Amino acid sequence: MEKTRVMENSSIRVVKDISAGHILDDVEKCGRMHGHNYRIEIEIMGEVQSDGMILNFDRVKDVVMQYDHKFIASKKQVISSSGGKLNGTYELLCNHKNYTMRKDEVEVLSADFSSAENFAKEIAYQLNTSKGVRGVTVIVEETPNNKAVFSVMNIGGSDGEPIW
Ligand SMILES: [Zn+2]
Repeated sequence: MEKTRVMENSSIRVVKDISAGHILDDVEKCGRMHGHNYRIEIEIMGEVQSDGMILNFDRVKDVVMQYDHKFIASKKQVISSSGGKLNGTYELLCNHKNYTMRKDEVEVLSADFSSAENFAKEIAYQLNTSKGVRGVTVIVEETPNNKAVFSVMNIGGSDGEPIW
């Protein structure tokens, strides 16, 4: 009798609540400094490693918690940077207004707008770096009615071979 071919999938899910502020450039209501109680939901698909885990839950939480009680700036909003990571400051230009903020109170996204969509993408790529991870989905919830979803799937290695 022919053996049934299967494709297995394991994943972990983590939900964390954080609070953070941001300013969206050139968006009427969101152009003022304001904050959200973000609910961040993460699913990581992958291969269970020899330690029995796809990825340590704490590693996932650490990535999310680095944004908690911070101001989330976009790359474009940072006009200058001085000093070190702890005592230094950023000069920010957000929606045509200038702000000076301590670096330890700011996280800078690699995108040009600090939207929920870009925030989800930033988190996903930070978690898509470990061995055995097949893909990451991040849902950034600004309110129960407004969510941004970003998924990245690893479809093959640079040599064309599947990575799992
Ligand atoms: Zn907002």
